[in-house]
Amino acid sequence: MSINNHSISPSKVVRGEGAWIKSLDLITNICNRPLIIGRSSVTKKIRASFKKDLLLKGIQPISLELEHDCCEFDIKNAYLISKNNNCDGIIAAGGGKVLDAGKLIADLLGINCITVPLSASTCAGWTALSNIYTPDGKFVKDITLRSCPKLLIFDHTIVRAAPPKTLASGIADAVAKWYESSLTSRTSQDGFVQQAVQMARVLRDQLFLNGFQAFLDPLSNSWETVAEGCALTAGIIGGLGGVKCRTAAAHPIHNGLTQLAYTNKPFHGELVGFGLLVQLQLEENNSKSQLPKQAKSQLIDFFSQLNLPTSIESIGLKDMTSNQLHKACKFTCNENSDIHQLPFPINEKDLFDAIQSFKSFPKSSNIKINNT
Ligand SMILES: [Zn+2]
Repeated sequence: MSINNHSISPSKVVRGEGAWIKSLDLITNICNRPLIIGRSSVTKKIRASFKKDLLLKGIQPISLELEHDCCEFDIKNAYLISKNNNCDGIIAAGGGKVLDAGKLIADLLGINCITVPLSASTCAGWTALSNIYTPDGKFVKDITLRSCPKLLIFDHTIVRAAPPKTLASGIADAVAKWYESSLTSRTSQDGFVQQAVQMARVLRDQLFLNGFQAFLDPLSNSWETVAEGCALTAGIIGGLGGVKCRTAAAHPIHNGLTQLAYTNKPFHGELVGFGLLVQLQLEENNSKSQLPKQAKSQLIDFFSQLNLPTSIESIGLKDMTSNQLHKACKFTCNENSDIHQLPFPINEKDLFDAIQSFKSFPKSSNIKINNT
């Protein structure tokens, strides 16, 4: 067997009600002068309270609000601030892009990263991977980091209060793990990869069983299973499977779609979920099996319950001309793209046709009734 270099999990994971407060002593063992980073104004108050808690423990944090997505500009800026202030740790508290930025800054500086996901929208708090975007949110590339975070704090009290839309996005991202990894790793001889794929299947089943209840009721038991499944288990699958347990089409299609402009910028998982439906359409077009078609209609029903986009119209593109869609297809099919991990050849035209099949028919509510 060839050498595999894995970063499987954070050194420590603290999860449950009040996990933040319970982690303060652990944090004092990790750093004395951390840089707390975040972005959204909605979560600013949470970071301010973190700062207060740390000060009471004798830790001297400084804080920084990122301006954009996890982009070169923000990374460089945070890197310099951190360096000039002799920071000895990064505490990233926010959504996937903040967590990705924090992990990368810590990696560049060779200091520890503590991730505190404030929603269950992705598994970025867990993984040794950062996605880089342009300042306006176009996917550029992903970077493999030296290690997973030193400490992951998944505080149920905080995450429970996040908008249900973030959980729905996390569900779409996590459910995609099974459909992508089972396709790209079906011939793998590596036991770790096989086990990771099976874990992705169990996670999918749990999301199907509990996802809707969790979305409706953040106080339910289903919520705990689902939120931790999206933010933690999905990360274990990535860590265990490693690079061989790769994405298939859903994530590359997401990467292509981020190149376009939106009226309301969709979340990562919302575009991944739509990409997953397109992936199943591609599979349906390239095989005689009825399974992709059945999986697609099952997912369309599930996503509709969770208010996730299931048509081109519902992803909220600013300009829906075929020119724009061709641009996304071109990016998705670039020669280095993971979409070529699919077990059949794929080109821009096939992808364009598959996306076009998700044009919805005009809804009755859009038909104007003339009463005069
Ligand atoms: Zn993802």
